[in-house]
Amino acid sequence: MAFIAESLNRIKVSPTLAVTNLASQLKAEGKSIISLGAGEPDFDTPSNIKEAAKKAIDMGQTKYTPVGGTPELKMAISDKFKNENELIYDPSNQITVSNGGKHVIFNALVSTLNKNDEVIIPAPYWVSYPDMVLFAGGKPVILNTTIDTGFKIVPNEIDKLITEKTKWLILNSPSNPTGATYSAEDLRAIGEVIKKYPNIWVMSDDIYEHLVYDGFNYHTFAEVVPELYDRTLTVNGCSKAFAMTGWRIGFAGGGSVLIKAMEKLQSQSTTNPSSVSQAAAIEALNGDKSFLIDRARKFCERRDIVVDLLNKVPGITCLKPEGAFYVYPSCSSLIGKSTKNGEVINNDEDFCKFLLEKEGVAVVQGSAFGLESHFRISYATSNDLLIEACKRIDRFCSSLQ
Ligand code: GLU
Repeated sequence: MAFIAESLNRIKVSPTLAVTNLASQLKAEGKSIISLGAGEPDFDTPSNIKEAAKKAIDMGQTKYTPVGGTPELKMAISDKFKNENELIYDPSNQITVSNGGKHVIFNALVSTLNKNDEVIIPAPYWVSYPDMVLFAGGKPVILNTTIDTGFKIVPNEIDKLITEKTKWLILNSPSNPTGATYSAEDLRAIGEVIKKYPNIWVMSDDIYEHLVYDGFNYHTFAEVVPELYDRTLTVNGCSKAFAMTGWRIGFAGGGSVLIKAMEKLQSQSTTNPSSVSQAAAIEALNGDKSFLIDRARKFCERRDIVVDLLNKVPGITCLKPEGAFYVYPSCSSLIGKSTKNGEVINNDEDFCKFLLEKEGVAVVQGSAFGLESHFRISYATSNDLLIEACKRIDRFCSSLQ
């Protein structure tokens, strides 16, 4: 009898983290690696946030907190939802805090899915959604999108996938891995479909909310479809906007029954998120946010550099998305070609493997995100490194025969 649980056989190691680890390992071996794998801002956590954490340590805030977060942090989150999203969530029973947005989503899915319950996930998707569903015993139902709609879902297509087993639709705008963003109008059109099915819930993963460009007007689902407020879990966190990936603070607002269930699960796993990180998160949410504008401007500049350079590379086509810090270029016309040594590129995985091997550029294969013949670039790094990476990608692609 196998010792490792069957639930673990249904999932794989996160490919985004695997690529990031491999790139770090190669760098440590002394190779010249440019890592565009990790979805992580290269900026530092702002100093006021770090100071708040240091102060919390000095004040002895180093003990357990309530499972779902301190009342002060829940209040700060409630204010954030009210001020930025026009959403009212009662801090006493409609908000929960976990160890990163990923943990929030995990808690929500594990707390709600029974065997074979279905979750509709638009593809290209963030690598962890389907595996979390599978781990929970559910069934991911993939809603494919194409480059023609800018990788956004066509609302009528949702209808076709709905069954009596459908429990959730996951929305992620701006999207990881494509950067696709949904306008208020787009979200309302999706809402019209979901309204017809009283048992379906919407999980709105808003982690890239503050990373939007070209004057894009950000809205979240429950805000623009208030009729579905009761059936929406609004997920967000500190990682991306405040460059706090290592602090692990994610949060959600939603119905009290669901929030209570998520906290019940958390009480039997991690207890509370780090007390020090929670103190830092209060400062992130309540403190000065003017730096967000400057950072978004820098990300936008990087996006323009990357999209521009990639579209000049033979065989690469790249859309210019309005959000997040990813681009999702197609390498389909390079599939079937060979490297100088005669190694055939059979798929996007080979493309990424040989790109890393020959030129030291780490990117993540599109198949990990549910759309093959593409790859994901995280452009959360300096302009100089991005220019150098694109030069290497160009050299690699131009060398293929
Ligand atoms: N969300 C980021 C990414 O897609 C961080 C790594 C992860 O958890 O997947 O790269």
